[in-house]
Amino acid sequence: MGGEKVELSERQEKMIKIVKENEPITGEQIAEHLNLSRATLRPDLAILTMAGYLDARPRVGYFFTGKTGSELLTEKVQQYKIKQFQSVPVVVKDDASVYDAISTMFLGDVGTLFVINEHNCLSGVLSRKDLLRASLGNQDLNKIPVHIIMTRMPNITVCRPDDLLIEGAKTLIDKQIDGLPVVKDTPKGLQVIGRVTKTTMTRAFVELILNEQV
Ligand code: ADP
Repeated sequence: MGGEKVELSERQEKMIKIVKENEPITGEQIAEHLNLSRATLRPDLAILTMAGYLDARPRVGYFFTGKTGSELLTEKVQQYKIKQFQSVPVVVKDDASVYDAISTMFLGDVGTLFVINEHNCLSGVLSRKDLLRASLGNQDLNKIPVHIIMTRMPNITVCRPDDLLIEGAKTLIDKQIDGLPVVKDTPKGLQVIGRVTKTTMTRAFVELILNEQV
């Protein structure tokens, strides 16, 4: 991600105001307004231009883009794609037992498992509650295959690497689920290549505001 900051300093706020009122205005002229040197302002001008508040046109000067902080944030979020944020999927075969699935969930440190068939294509999803439900009662969890308890195709909601992250977030809310498999279409079915979850969305949110990868 770029090095721009979302939170502006007092001086940067002043610079925006000066540009708004005097555009087009050169860096030299902005510096004069503030009784500072052009060199002192250089980093601030770079930040304001990179963050999208100001537009720099060579040999003309700086313009105010007219965008508010929230408009700039919106623009940034709308560029976020699933592929930039997806994490590694954790999968089990559809003939694995519920016991194996629970172990895999702990070992993989995930809340959602994706189930794959003999072609290594997506056949189901297992949530924590799916596994808890199957564990109630006294059945031998080694004897119950996951394909009996999973949510199965074609009822699985998926996303693709080039989808917008915000669409994925909306889907998680609308469907009231914790995660989505990121898939690639193949002749045999959907190959699971990633995973996006509520944690992914939290990470993107923090990255957006603090502008650092978390
Ligand atoms: P939990 O059940 O632990 O609260 P979820 O809210 O993710 O976790 O799951 C709710 C139900 O939706 C479960 O039965 C699960 O199998 C199913 N589910 C989870 N993810 C998906 C998905 N991407 N597509 C379809 N169903 C899903």
